[in-house]
Amino acid sequence: MANSNLATYRNPTRNHSGGRTQKISKITPHEMAAIWSGRQCADYFAGTTRQASSNYCIGNGGDIAISVDEGNRAWTSSSEYNDQRAVTIEVSNSVCGGDWPVSPAAYNALVRLCADICKRNGINPAYNGAASGSITMHKMFASTACPGPYLTHKIVSGDLARDIKAAMGQGTAKPVSQQLYRIRKSWADVKSQIGAYKSLENAKKACGVGYSVFDKDGKAVYTPGGSAAKKWTQDCVLKVGDKVISVSCGIVAVPGTNSAVQGNLVNIPALGGMVPLSDVSEADDTGDGKKDDYLANTKSRVFLLQATVTKIISNDLVQLDRGYVVKTGPLMGLR
Ligand SMILES: [Zn+2]
Repeated sequence: MANSNLATYRNPTRNHSGGRTQKISKITPHEMAAIWSGRQCADYFAGTTRQASSNYCIGNGGDIAISVDEGNRAWTSSSEYNDQRAVTIEVSNSVCGGDWPVSPAAYNALVRLCADICKRNGINPAYNGAASGSITMHKMFASTACPGPYLTHKIVSGDLARDIKAAMGQGTAKPVSQQLYRIRKSWADVKSQIGAYKSLENAKKACGVGYSVFDKDGKAVYTPGGSAAKKWTQDCVLKVGDKVISVSCGIVAVPGTNSAVQGNLVNIPALGGMVPLSDVSEADDTGDGKKDDYLANTKSRVFLLQATVTKIISNDLVQLDRGYVVKTGPLMGLR
């Protein structure tokens, strides 16, 4: 079975199970939790006695290295089921902490590599929230934050699947014009537009009093001398359409067990009960400097990743776009 021609380096590790027993049918992007080149990561997997590896490693600068040949089952996702079927890809972070972002170069390399894998293996890239889908996440199978908030959002929002399809020559990439920063009196007042800039800094310089700079989604990102940028605020009256995240909340063992995690759900009483693992991230490190073990530890605190309010149920209950109802107490809206 062939590897991707996009790889520029190969350092095979012994950390794998040999040939796959299942056809390749999915892709699992992981966060490296380090700022490395792809080569450094492949070298690490080749040299470590830790039982860890991935098929590909993508560096912060966008280089692609092979650690486990595509035809072999890597040890990446804590799941025999997944790793027999998935091409696993470690992606370097650009910052270790916060949202655990990845660089544009690394993300673009991920998109190109996934497009190549999907084409060669006849995969239709799509995230459906289930292990059976063609894009999966490590945290579906283990108590881990991997692939971290940034990549989780890219995956759950459908952005990654859409970008891969565009790179495969299917679907449509975002038109370049959508990436512009527009200067208008209000987003709705299209005729008031006095300029559109690729650079936010240039847009800010050109934006006079009475105008604001709007991003591609129509959100005001700069208003000279005007109102301060909106901040995440707790205890605000929520309405349908509000974007929300939560303050950090404790996780509590499910009654009758010694774990807060049950299947793909985690018990967060402040939010009203069981919440999908894919929708939360670690709020505070549990003390070991790693973000990989927090759900195994009921002392951990987590926060709800950004969601949109779709229905007001009562004063203290709202439904989110991801389908479930949560208590409003820990929620913060932009105000
Ligand atoms: Zn992972």
